[in-house]
Amino acid sequence: MSGSAIYDTFARAPLSFDRGEGVWLITQDGQRYLDFAGGIAVNSLGHGHPALVAALTEQVGKLWHTSNLYEIPEQTRLAERLVAATFADKVFFTNSGAEALECAIKTARRYHYAAGRVERFRIITFEGAFHGRTLATIAAGGQKKYLEGFGPKVEGFDQVPFGDMEALEKAITPETAAILIEPVQGEGGIREVPAQILKHLRELCDRNGLLLIFDEVQCGVGRTGKFFAHEWSGVTPDLMAIAKGIGGGFPVGACLATSEAASGMIAGVHGTTFGGNQLAMAVGNAVLDVVLEQGFLEDVARKALLMKQGLAAISDEFPQIIEEIRGTGLMLGIKCKVENGKVNAALRDQHLLAVPAGDNVVRLLPPLTVSDEEIREGLGRIRAAAKSLSEAASS
Ligand SMILES: *Cc1c(COP(=O)(O)O)cnc(C)c1O
Repeated sequence: MSGSAIYDTFARAPLSFDRGEGVWLITQDGQRYLDFAGGIAVNSLGHGHPALVAALTEQVGKLWHTSNLYEIPEQTRLAERLVAATFADKVFFTNSGAEALECAIKTARRYHYAAGRVERFRIITFEGAFHGRTLATIAAGGQKKYLEGFGPKVEGFDQVPFGDMEALEKAITPETAAILIEPVQGEGGIREVPAQILKHLRELCDRNGLLLIFDEVQCGVGRTGKFFAHEWSGVTPDLMAIAKGIGGGFPVGACLATSEAASGMIAGVHGTTFGGNQLAMAVGNAVLDVVLEQGFLEDVARKALLMKQGLAAISDEFPQIIEEIRGTGLMLGIKCKVENGKVNAALRDQHLLAVPAGDNVVRLLPPLTVSDEEIREGLGRIRAAAKSLSEAASS
């Protein structure tokens, strides 16, 4: 045995934290980091949010888990609230994003199967997509580096270039069941899908009898300044996977569906042991209490503008380091001219945490509760990092 007792699958930063306070993470020896990584868009309300702490501690003393063999009132309540606030009629709770996607994929296939169209099981996805790390979701994501060495790729996923509508129309066959897309690609490098394209996808699905599946695991739950990112386009899906922000740090995911799309998911065809348990639901309901509060999302959108304008100014000042600023809401990307890993490390040197993404981008995903002052503090640190990189490059 060598090294750590933990699988070597993560290239971790040599950094660990002892506690968190809002947008701040604090090491054992008291060093404070501004957390604009947000646990990869998970800590939607920051660290130690009083409403989440209260909801979880109250539930901890009452009941943790009974399984889905019984009614779970907190689960029914969260499902009803999600249904009331979205396109959906039905919800299935999971513990992660990948499981929410698995549920969406299975639901789409069962929809056609139940209607006698057994040949329709293929799902079209887009280059640069990320849908999780299970066998089916790595096939959906289609990234070679995640598929390599794990045996035959799960059958039934066809990938087309991002934004290539001609290739997409050609990829639709009598075997196609659905189109799956992230309204804003996260891991792929904060690439927003234009509203026009989402509208076109909706039309294509309607014309061809396909289901439209949105993966809002990263861009959902207030991240873009709407409850869900697709709301900006006015287009609604038939199925949607969510996770990350809905649990605020507690593992929660869900698949949302119209009743028609969910029509094949009858008793016994799908299940989960942990999904939707009392602890998870207590936290999910508490997250919604805050995110759906009057004015919260408008404030996210306002703060996002402040942040994007500040980033644009830094980008203008250091064109040799930053190519462009992209993204929407508090899901912003710095497209780097130098290696994104270097930029991420320079930010960390300034005690600001960010997340590298594909396409040489560094992602900024601060808690939605970040204050104007914390945004200004973060911009100052980002500028300092850009300055140090630019000085290093010219020396
Ligand atoms: C993180 C992510 C997933 C996978 O979620 P896990 O909880 O890691 O399984 C799926 N889709 C998108 C868009 C994601 O960002």
